[in-house]
Amino acid sequence: MPGSSRPGRRERLVVVGFGIAAYRFIERLTALGAHDRYDITVIGEEADPAYNRVRLSEWLDRPLPETQAAPRDLRPLALASPDWGKARGIRTLLSTTVVSIDREARTVETARGESIGYDRLVLATGSLPIVPRIEGVDSDGVFVYRTIEDLEALQERASRAKRAAVLGGGLLGIEAAEGLRRLGLAVVLLQRAPHLLNRQFGPDAGTYLETRVRAAGIQPMLGAASVRIEVRSHALAIELVGKDMPLTTDLVVVAAGVRPRDRLAREAGLIVAFRGGGIVVNDRLDTSDPRIQAIGECASAGRTVYGMAGPTQGMAHTLAEIMAGRSTRFGRQVPATRLRLVDLDIWAIGDTAALAERVTWSRDASYRQLKLRAGQIIAATTIGPWEELGVVQDLIRRRSPIWWWQLRRFRRTGMLFPRSEALPVAKWPSARVVCNCLGVTRGELDLALRAGCDSVKSIAGRTGASTVCGACRPLLAEFLGADPASAAEALLPARPKAQPALLAAAVAVAGLAAVIVAGPSIPPADSVADGGFLDALQRDGALKRFTGFSLLGATLGTLVLSLRKRWNRMRAGDFAVWRLMHGAVAALALLAFVLHTGLHLGTGLNLALSATFLATSVLGSLAAAGVGRRGARTMFWLHVFAVWPLPVLIAFHILKTWYF
Ligand SMILES: Cc1cc2nc3c(=O)[nH]c(=O)nc-3n(C[C@H](O)[C@H](O)[C@H](O)COP(=O)(O)OP(=O)(O)OC[C@H]3O[C@@H](n4cnc5c(N)ncnc54)[C@H](O)[C@@H]3O)c2cc1C
Repeated sequence: MPGSSRPGRRERLVVVGFGIAAYRFIERLTALGAHDRYDITVIGEEADPAYNRVRLSEWLDRPLPETQAAPRDLRPLALASPDWGKARGIRTLLSTTVVSIDREARTVETARGESIGYDRLVLATGSLPIVPRIEGVDSDGVFVYRTIEDLEALQERASRAKRAAVLGGGLLGIEAAEGLRRLGLAVVLLQRAPHLLNRQFGPDAGTYLETRVRAAGIQPMLGAASVRIEVRSHALAIELVGKDMPLTTDLVVVAAGVRPRDRLAREAGLIVAFRGGGIVVNDRLDTSDPRIQAIGECASAGRTVYGMAGPTQGMAHTLAEIMAGRSTRFGRQVPATRLRLVDLDIWAIGDTAALAERVTWSRDASYRQLKLRAGQIIAATTIGPWEELGVVQDLIRRRSPIWWWQLRRFRRTGMLFPRSEALPVAKWPSARVVCNCLGVTRGELDLALRAGCDSVKSIAGRTGASTVCGACRPLLAEFLGADPASAAEALLPARPKAQPALLAAAVAVAGLAAVIVAGPSIPPADSVADGGFLDALQRDGALKRFTGFSLLGATLGTLVLSLRKRWNRMRAGDFAVWRLMHGAVAALALLAFVLHTGLHLGTGLNLALSATFLATSVLGSLAAAGVGRRGARTMFWLHVFAVWPLPVLIAFHILKTWYF
């Protein structure tokens, strides 16, 4: 094993980069109690300890400091506190850039000329913004959007500006444009492609998004390729392909994507991905030098560079576990990202840029798209809330096959599952994803709860859920039984309750079924004159047919009423009313059964028919009585299964009656 060459001595572990990946890695190592095995040094180029880059745009909203020297309050973004390293016995070097790695001597050299030895080296150097080669792109007033310092410089310039232009209509570009709009600037969003978010969305959704972006006060310019930026007195002029007049603005933000920061590794002779870059790692996150590992946005795992916080955390946790002696591997991840745009909830999950079959649903202010390959969902994009998002993410992660009838339902309703299957978080299947950013499942929340986490903060600390974009915070509160607040209530339908009328129908059905099974059958009268009405019902052919057809009609009625739940075209009225009618007609059907059979269950085919009919009724009444309680779903499905033989048995019964 690398690094075990000097027994009795703690290994020197050097981490280059102090972003989300490095922070999560060391935190996990500490949580596993394995940090004691290492003398840890973490080296970060930025002046601040690790912070949540995902929420960087919030930094733009803070009031400008009164003086340059005023201390920064990093709390809204901070991951590591200023004394984080000291408290853990970790040497933390800030404002320090590592400029080279000497793999022979096993040292890294900093820009200040310090040489630091390592036994294990972890590269967590993240990404660099892509700056297109446009003349004048390095002019004063042109910014990138990656670090606190970038945003501070941008904010300072914005305080003296009225207009801004953002180059790039992807997720980051729209987020930057939205941040500048909040600062009160007139923002033009320049997008080279014919529509916004072209990597995630098709033209229809892109066009819809454009109208929303415009409504939010941002001016998108599509098909706009910039060729030159020129400083003219106090303004910047952007020359665009095919436009005679340049666009004049006060500042420019370049948001044209990122590329892995792999120069150090490349220069040290480590294998780097040929296309797109990224330090190549195996599923143990080893680079081509087993003493050196790479995690986060700088790494290329399984030929993929994940540019998102979820997989970054996944790599960090996996490496910590491996270094703590656990046997684990870094597997395929399903990245998910959320765009914060005024009131819009936009999610992109999975391989959204893949060329694959698209299935789309849109209505009013909502848009949902699935990308399919070989019968599996590989990506999903959505504008507007979608309560199935966690399930869809889980389907993508598990590569579960998707059935034609689910796609059919999706095309019609935008839902893959019947709407009634939406449940409170505590009742979700354990594999369903609650935190889309980090892919934290309901099962993981359970484990955290069992480990004693009883607040949103402690669950977040243990699982990471809600620490990226924060959208799932109300779901965590709901999971813990706290007041879920309106946000969570909007996401999930309220827990259903059995209404008193439905309960009454269920009791009537169960009571009648009990009387039929346990009660004595009505004895035939010795003569027609002795028998009453019940006897006449059994003897008179016309009356017998009448009760039989009434029974048949009521049974069919219950079936038709149940379609309101299963058939998406039947959307009229409140589902609860339809369900109540279903129960009431079932009670009538049982009454018709009593009249038709005189409480004789029969033999052979008739007995099978009676037994199936009664079993269906009893299971249905139990499901109705238990609505919203444990076990009701099992009863419901047993009820549905019991129904299946009924049509065949009824058909044989009618044929037999006609024949004889
Ligand atoms: C504005 C913005 C919004 C985002 N929104 C989302 C989102 O909604 N969802 C999502 O999943 N992701 C989002 N991301 C991406 C997410 O922030 C990254 O995936 C994540 O930060 C990657 O973490 P990392 O530790 O690998 O890299 P980084 O966070 O970039 O950290 C790397 C650190 O290493 C330092 N470093 C690099 N080289 C050296 C060196 N030679 N010596 C010393 N230090 C070095 C860098 O200065 C940096 O501090 C967003 C990113 C930005 C910029």
